[in-house]
Amino acid sequence: MLRTIIAALSLSLSLYAPLYARGAAVVLQYHHVDVGTPAITSITPTDFAAQLEYLDDANFSILPLSQITDALKSGLALPSATIAITFDDAYSSIYTEAYPLLKKKKFPFTIFVATNLVGSSSHYLNWQQLAEMADNGALIANHTRSHLHLLRKKADESNEEWRQRIGEEISGAQIEIDKHLGESPRLFAYPYGEYNQDVLALVASLGYEGFGQQSGAAGADSDFLALPRFPLAGNYAGLAAFKTKVNTLPMPIRGASIESLLEPGNLRPELVLNFTEGKWRTGELTCYGPGGKMDIAALDSTTFRVLPVMDVPIGRSRYNCTMPANEPRRYFWYSQPWIRKKDDGSWYAEP
Ligand SMILES: [Zn+2]
Repeated sequence: MLRTIIAALSLSLSLYAPLYARGAAVVLQYHHVDVGTPAITSITPTDFAAQLEYLDDANFSILPLSQITDALKSGLALPSATIAITFDDAYSSIYTEAYPLLKKKKFPFTIFVATNLVGSSSHYLNWQQLAEMADNGALIANHTRSHLHLLRKKADESNEEWRQRIGEEISGAQIEIDKHLGESPRLFAYPYGEYNQDVLALVASLGYEGFGQQSGAAGADSDFLALPRFPLAGNYAGLAAFKTKVNTLPMPIRGASIESLLEPGNLRPELVLNFTEGKWRTGELTCYGPGGKMDIAALDSTTFRVLPVMDVPIGRSRYNCTMPANEPRRYFWYSQPWIRKKDDGSWYAEP
């Protein structure tokens, strides 16, 4: 019933709201909505409420994530300021703090759950709470069973054994979700936002759309296995920055995502941006990476090569590129994640 209402509501919005021709949306990513949890993955309930208030006042269209991906994939237009709200990991504050505010606003949202965590302690949501939220606008989606690092092969594990193990982590989580809540759209969020081409191929073979934790807006030309989200926590949760982020548009470039796991001989990887036809302000393209502002070279009128001024550090990092859009106060945004192992080939510790 609620899905029908949301669908009808968004249809009427898409008829009357101004449209961004190619379809675009910004996906927000939260973890805790709490004051006592680690700042790096938390937003305070007060700040979260202020963000929802802004989205409401400024007439953003908050749509279910699956509806957004379906529209982008099939080339349908979306309202010019379309947002999806997502939470990772199934922390209990989603129910106690975020859900009452979202319910009051009638904003749909998605929770990517690691199913082994569900009901495991009072820090996590239980299936009853998830079911109640699913009945009130929430979509419950896949974040593996055990919230593992997908790229980290075990000692002596073959590629096939790795595919088998990770495949069971993803498919097993989906079986749990479907069993408790009914069949849910195949949407997957990479734990820690970590993926490489092997992980993307596996997720594709299982029939999912994938979401990372790299910044940027999603569009029809996005890689649907590595869709961007804006993490909103700690220093990144301020309202001024939030307003910029929710108004971003997908960088008008072509091409699938590139390998994010770096080899020892390639620690200053180039990023090549191939712009689509259009009147873009490429002279104002700006990128930041390790060491600050990056060097940009035009290879031809639509192709730009971006290089960092120092090596990508060990761990997870990103290049962030922005360019002013043709609408006032809006920016195109694209982010490329990188993963670099320690120099002895072992994995970095999770902070
Ligand atoms: Zn997570």
